[in-house]
Amino acid sequence: MALAEEMVVQGRVLVGKVALVTGASRGIGAAIARELARLGATTVLNYCRSAEQAEALVRQLSAHNDRVAAVRADVSQPEEIDRLWKEVSDGFGPIDILVNNAGITRDSRFLNMSAAQWEDVMHTNLDSMFHLTQRVLPSMIENGFGRIINVSSIIAQTGGFGQVNYSAAKAGIIGFTKSLALETAKYNITVNAVCPGFIWTDMVAAVPEKVQDKIKARIPMGRFGLPEEVAKVVRFLVVDGDYITGQCLNVNGGMYM
Ligand code: NAD
Repeated sequence: MALAEEMVVQGRVLVGKVALVTGASRGIGAAIARELARLGATTVLNYCRSAEQAEALVRQLSAHNDRVAAVRADVSQPEEIDRLWKEVSDGFGPIDILVNNAGITRDSRFLNMSAAQWEDVMHTNLDSMFHLTQRVLPSMIENGFGRIINVSSIIAQTGGFGQVNYSAAKAGIIGFTKSLALETAKYNITVNAVCPGFIWTDMVAAVPEKVQDKIKARIPMGRFGLPEEVAKVVRFLVVDGDYITGQCLNVNGGMYM
């Protein structure tokens, strides 16, 4: 039976499911957490630095769902991932829905890029996916259900000036997604990626205004996307994507069609 049919409780189709979203205190991660909480999932927001922001979001979401919490962990550190996984599993039960969203940029032209800039981006954007997914997967296999969504980027496909680190990590996410999907398909666990184009969050707001205008001019829909527009695609993959796995869905207003 499809998840959507099985779990409908007054539209809260994810009641009984446990979701963990990394980097969920703001931006795309916050929009995804909001969407999953709205659908009734026990939703754990991972955050790294801003406890205030994360707690404010938890308070907001708690008005409609009393099973929402925030857990601090720096996902670039394997031992912190271990603690995060234990805290979520012990406190709320096995994780059914994992959204690997946390990501950073450390832009620099290649010849000026330091090893630290390369490694920070790799540890946060790609390695975190390996460590956290490896922790979460066994209970998904045991339960015969899982939805894993990895947040990649349009830059994985196009490259980005001054972004060899970010582009390599985001392209790695696509390979990771497709390969893991092959291993998990028989357990009713889907693994998909979303590739946002340019979405209006702090990450894009940090780009100089002139560059923002140039980017916007290249978007056929003529505007930046909204975090909620990425969250809707994640919702689709989680709720209705029973037979979709190993895919990478572009959410980019028609860029590079
Ligand atoms: P953002 O900077 O607003 O959010 C990133 C989140 O990740 C923040 O909450 C941050 O605290 C968290 N984070 C960073 N390092 C962390 C760590 N070590 N441990 C835990 N959390 C950490 O940016 P966003 O635009 O919301 O980005 C979300 C994801 O979407 C990222 O993976 C980003 O690469 C990807 N993305 C964004 C865009 C865009 O245009 N905004 C486009 C393509 C992909």
